[in-house]
Amino acid sequence: MGKKDWTPQTQAAQALGWTDAETGAVVLPVHPSTTYLRDEDNLYRRGRQYARADNPSFDQPQALLSALEHGAQALIFSSGMAAATSCFLALHPGDHVVVPEVMYWSLRAWLKSYAQEWGLHVDGVDMANLEAVRAALKPGLTKLVWIETPSNPLWQITDIAAVAELAHGAGAQLAVDSTCATPVLTRPLTLGADIVMHSATKYLNGHSDVIAGALVAKTCDDYWQRITSLRVRLGSVLGPFETYLLTRGMRTLFVRVQAACANALKIALAMRENPHVAEVLYPGLVHRPDHALATRQMQGGFGGMLSLRVKGGEAAAVRTAAAVRLWKRATSLGGVESLIEHRGSVEGAGSPCPMDLLRLSVGIETAEDLIADLEQALAAG
Ligand SMILES: *Cc1c(COP(=O)(O)O)cnc(C)c1O
Repeated sequence: MGKKDWTPQTQAAQALGWTDAETGAVVLPVHPSTTYLRDEDNLYRRGRQYARADNPSFDQPQALLSALEHGAQALIFSSGMAAATSCFLALHPGDHVVVPEVMYWSLRAWLKSYAQEWGLHVDGVDMANLEAVRAALKPGLTKLVWIETPSNPLWQITDIAAVAELAHGAGAQLAVDSTCATPVLTRPLTLGADIVMHSATKYLNGHSDVIAGALVAKTCDDYWQRITSLRVRLGSVLGPFETYLLTRGMRTLFVRVQAACANALKIALAMRENPHVAEVLYPGLVHRPDHALATRQMQGGFGGMLSLRVKGGEAAAVRTAAAVRLWKRATSLGGVESLIEHRGSVEGAGSPCPMDLLRLSVGIETAEDLIADLEQALAAG
């Protein structure tokens, strides 16, 4: 049985089965060196010069992520924001981009400030409305369409295949922030996307102890070459020790994501019955408007992220978050421990996030413990 026949879960568990040729170690060594020897004739035949360009420690996680996403090549970055902003900075001033109205808050803020000052024309649309997407595209001028699915913090699903077709029709590329779907549940490159982005800080690493990002390309075209070169020029590379932790985290990606999905569905169903909850935002619930699309686009689960809209508004939501004992009151997502956050307080003025919303990142604890804690906190709130 060759490596090509391995299922993605097997590829991840064994990190592609790589071992150290010199020692036989089943975990590859960390390479802290910043610089590499030249050959006597002044060439760099071994291919490496300086660690702002790359590091041998990147090879394994990049190859693994590329395999999991069915990509041609992957790049690890110093953060999800470094990965995402590189996709925009690799364009040219004057280029037009189409982005979602509701998306990861820090990137939305960056697009509305620095990206525009730098010269990009940025239009936000409702990505669930394909007619609006079509209308926003400017054939020849639009270079990139950016989507996030499921999207923060309302967990709406965007139809990757449909938006890819629209973007390509206008001569634009499609990039997908797939942080919350993970390659376990969705593989955007197989649905027509050109670039996949991850905040590897979240599910890929999975233990809330590394800030990292990643991009995967379907083809190594000129645009991808510019992104690759930007990582060297801006120096947005991950450190070797963090890279080691990320590789270790990715080995348990499948079991963690599967456990989080199972817990999230149980919690969503329990919260639907809760008298203090006005609405549960989770694409895995059959009555949700994008459930059919989510079922088509996501395999094996609907993710570990959901949001609750609490009866009693903002004050009740904040009181509920204050009353949890097991859930951790903190930002971020995708770790093994469950987090709860009053998202409106983070996003502030101009955010499309309702003020009665609590965002839940479901971890891998026992669902019954998580539900009992939420129930007592909602009753106290
Ligand atoms: C966290 C996050 C980011 C940003 O990633 P960092 O690693 O924090 O820089 C981007 N998109 C999504 C969906 C995220 O959750």
